[in-house]
Amino acid sequence: MTPVFSSELLLGLLRAAAKSEVEICGILRARGARIVRADPAANVAVDPARHFEIDPAALLGAYRDARTPGAADIAGWYHSHPGGRPDPSPTDAARADPDGRLWLIVGHGVARLWRAVADGAVHGRFDPVCFAVADDRDEAENAKHIEKSRLAVQMDPTGRTLSSVRERDMSR
Ligand SMILES: [Zn+2]
Repeated sequence: MTPVFSSELLLGLLRAAAKSEVEICGILRARGARIVRADPAANVAVDPARHFEIDPAALLGAYRDARTPGAADIAGWYHSHPGGRPDPSPTDAARADPDGRLWLIVGHGVARLWRAVADGAVHGRFDPVCFAVADDRDEAENAKHIEKSRLAVQMDPTGRTLSSVRERDMSR
């Protein structure tokens, strides 16, 4: 199942990350493959410019909410790398449980998706994940004709549109 994001949701995170000197972070909620929300949480890390730690109260609240019937699942987490690439750091790998959850990382105006697994290709903990982007929230909710998946998207300088990043451009 290819995770589907709305461009609105991704642009919101990319814009918030671009404005912040500390790592922004939060919780991704999904219905099936569709990421329906990115709930921001306070970053309570000791050095929030270089690390993130989702406010435990927000985590607890999300777990509790996800257990109520009909609520969106906890698909994973997002955080940003101010001034850095959207690739998992060794610290991210050390702190990630190999639980199959998604990690959306935003950095340099680019968003990439990863999955925390036991034998990952990156730092032994993360595999890159292809995802699809729908033009708006309704489309993402009712995704029918979304086939195109990509490994990374970037925000244009106006902060209004997204485009795919070619794979060869990501390794630079
Ligand atoms: Zn990180």
